[in-house]
Amino acid sequence: MSQQRDYYEILGVNRDASDDEIKKAYRKLAMKHHPDRNPDNPKAEERFKEAKTAYEILSDAQKRAAYDQYGHAGVDPQAGGFGPGGAGMGGFADSFSDIFGDIFGGGRGGGGGGRGNVYRGADLRYNLEISLEDAARGTETRIRIPTMEQCETCGGSGAKKGTSPTTCPTCNGHGQVRMQQGFFSIQQTCPKCHGSGRFVADPCPTCQGAGRIKQHKTLSVKIPAGVDEGDRIRLSGEGEHGIGGGPPGDLYVQIHIKPHPVFQRDHGDLHCEMPISFTVAALGGEIEIPTLDGIAKIKIPAETQSGKVFRLRGKGIKGVRSHNPGDLMCHVVVETPVNLTDRQKELLRELETINTKDGARHNPRAKSWMDKVKDFFGG
Ligand SMILES: [Zn+2]
Ligand SMILES: [Zn+2]
Repeated sequence: MSQQRDYYEILGVNRDASDDEIKKAYRKLAMKHHPDRNPDNPKAEERFKEAKTAYEILSDAQKRAAYDQYGHAGVDPQAGGFGPGGAGMGGFADSFSDIFGDIFGGGRGGGGGGRGNVYRGADLRYNLEISLEDAARGTETRIRIPTMEQCETCGGSGAKKGTSPTTCPTCNGHGQVRMQQGFFSIQQTCPKCHGSGRFVADPCPTCQGAGRIKQHKTLSVKIPAGVDEGDRIRLSGEGEHGIGGGPPGDLYVQIHIKPHPVFQRDHGDLHCEMPISFTVAALGGEIEIPTLDGIAKIKIPAETQSGKVFRLRGKGIKGVRSHNPGDLMCHVVVETPVNLTDRQKELLRELETINTKDGARHNPRAKSWMDKVKDFFGG
């Protein structure tokens, strides 16, 4: 495939363009380059397809966000359908009902099944909540998703047992009707059969004439190590069934990570709070801290202050797209002792008396703060 142009550039809009501006820009390009107006002009057809692809991505908030974040790679699964060997997504009539549907009061070209109407099935999204540990190490899990399967009672025809669908009298089975509008004619989905080209006089009681019924299927999903909140895993072809023999859509498993009792994640880094006792902070010591790979020991130097951060290199998470794991940052919180006995209070008072004698030496921060306060009130 030739190098892909920037979608915003194709439509000639800014990166912060509103949905309305994007729609207007696409409509203008679609009118100009539409094959009906440019017969036997491959360049115009190319421009038309390009604009259509760009519009499909940028008019979809989620795809636009993915494109904004990851570029073509972020949206390639969908965009790929337009390349060589792609799935002939709906043809031109389809794209016209998409942009003009709202003007003419018709819905999106949801039907299909008529002559030449092939629709790719819709993409689906499944929200999957996993633990931080599973996200870090990767896992495999099973999910149960709703799916539309062919109705067994009627074999997908939608007609009651013993009857069969007849050709739609309004569109003669084409699924589309032509309407003259301005300088070109537009195909619209047949209002009677909704594009199926068939008419069911006596609907099947199991599926109410739809030919498909809602069922569930169980899928196994491999979660790669390092996934983060909001990452999506694509299960190709596990979306909704295509219409009129079209390919199925994809299923996107969107990752949500459960809050962890100890760690907060920031991309590859992990943060945790590390309460240490007043005496350990003053005299130093060794403490044990949890990491995702088990217990690690940290030497706390004497005279450690609250708020100090100890960094354990490589004890974070290795992201899906990164080469090295992040770090674990332990934020020291010095804990003031509570539930003191008389003896403890006595010792602390004694300590305080000694400390106060040379405050600048033992509590320099408190001393300099007091000096600033005095200055503030004019000495
Ligand atoms: Zn049925
Ligand atoms: Zn019809």
